[in-house]
Amino acid sequence: MRLALDQARLAARGGDVPVGAVVLAADGTTVLATGHNEREAGGDPTAHAEVLAVRRAAEATGEWRLSGCTLVVTLEPCTMCAGAITQSRVDRVVYGARDDKAGAVGSLWDVVRDRRLNHRPEVVQGVLAEECSGLLTEFFRER
Ligand SMILES: [Zn+2]
Repeated sequence: MRLALDQARLAARGGDVPVGAVVLAADGTTVLATGHNEREAGGDPTAHAEVLAVRRAAEATGEWRLSGCTLVVTLEPCTMCAGAITQSRVDRVVYGARDDKAGAVGSLWDVVRDRRLNHRPEVVQGVLAEECSGLLTEFFRER
């Protein structure tokens, strides 16, 4: 999560909402890929930290299926990212701050644990939550 927080800070530096993500390999420690919001930087509405990190992890492994991997992200994923998480088959999602306005991993929706889906990753929430949400609060206060 510390690495994801570093990524989130990079996003803010580029004028993007500070959200950072990291994909860990099945051993739980090897970093396969990182990502941070690049919506403003890239003019891309889908350039959320999670999507970029998952895409890069697939590139790194040469395999779209990220079975055994863990996605760590500073903010609860939105519906789009929850969809990408499901599609990537990661086994674990760890996130920091809850997103009561758009969260799709337990707050507004719980897409990744929908029983109708046959792949449902384990979810761990609230890791360094205060630090993660603090970055966001600071970012929006400065705007
Ligand atoms: Zn998202």
